[in-house]
Amino acid sequence: MPVNELSTFYDKASSGADIAGIADPLQRRNRVRILVTGGAGFIGSHLTDRFLAEGHDVICMDNLLTGRADNIAAHFGNPRFSFIHYDVTDYIHIEGPLDYILHFASPASPADFERLGIRILKVGALGTHKTLGLARAKGAKFLLASTSETYGDPQVHPQNEEYWGNVNPIGIRGVYDEAKRFAESMTMAYNRLHDIDTRIVRIFNTYGPRMRRDDGRAIPNFITQSLAGRDVTVYGDGGQTRSIGFVSDLVEGIRLLMDSTVTTPVNIGNPTELTMQQLAETIIQYTGSTSKIVFQDLPEDDPKVRLPDIAKARRELGWEPTVMPEDGLRRTIDWFRDEVEGRKGNE
Ligand code: UDP
Repeated sequence: MPVNELSTFYDKASSGADIAGIADPLQRRNRVRILVTGGAGFIGSHLTDRFLAEGHDVICMDNLLTGRADNIAAHFGNPRFSFIHYDVTDYIHIEGPLDYILHFASPASPADFERLGIRILKVGALGTHKTLGLARAKGAKFLLASTSETYGDPQVHPQNEEYWGNVNPIGIRGVYDEAKRFAESMTMAYNRLHDIDTRIVRIFNTYGPRMRRDDGRAIPNFITQSLAGRDVTVYGDGGQTRSIGFVSDLVEGIRLLMDSTVTTPVNIGNPTELTMQQLAETIIQYTGSTSKIVFQDLPEDDPKVRLPDIAKARRELGWEPTVMPEDGLRRTIDWFRDEVEGRKGNE
């Protein structure tokens, strides 16, 4: 089934067609079946929402190591959705056809790198091998969730896709960086040797509703600390930079990449660079908190700068971020506030 019809279908769906029933055989023809590994995770669950809203069938596979059933709970009972509680490092069997596989399973927070190092290496290496093997068996397209971490602590700034990176393979971050670099190599090898139609997205720091409160990354930490009136922990001198992209922009970039013919990696991120001190101050201000900033040790190999060059995404996909940090951070803070107060926010 031609997956590049996904967008055509979405246009039809958003032009007022009834996507819930999919009664129209024309629409049925364009409906595709998608496997999302890590589908209960932060990004995987937003992708799942999007595909279901477009009228497609989604199989969400997740071992719930860092994903949460809550993220997909809204879809239980939807006949176009199914959930398989499974670890993708084991042999994967799926009944019936598959049109697209998106491999998003992996812990991704630096706080997990020490605790879950071997699991991260396995899901990036064995999990990528298994999902590519499945793509080959099913004749499905494949999209790999890669990362700006492939650039390591970069010596080129901003980072474009031509840069090969500066990674310490034996450092604490090596488990994630090298797993994703291996995953990219494996994806390209399947593309070259087995003619699998593949895509690679290099995801820069992304944030939004459904990040875990205890995830350990800067944005969830700063927000939960600010909301509780606790000290906000900035590592190092706070001069290290990141660029932060809102999750809906990332989902849009991934959709455009899926429908494109670009098989080489594409950066998706918001090219607004800010220091971690600026980020902490902004979050304290937006939450109206009285929290103070405290400085703690910088973790090993923490990249000093990170900023995507998005010329390729602009050129090849016509993609651009639309949600600026002011807006995205406020929406994320609202969602965390609801979480803290026990209200269900499932944006
Ligand atoms: N960071 C921080 N305080 C925290 C958590 C993270 O200052 O409580 C810093 C971290 O050292 C890094 C940046 O914020 O320089 C972004 O860290 P994050 O864990 O969000 O992801 P990374 O971009 O390092 O993968």
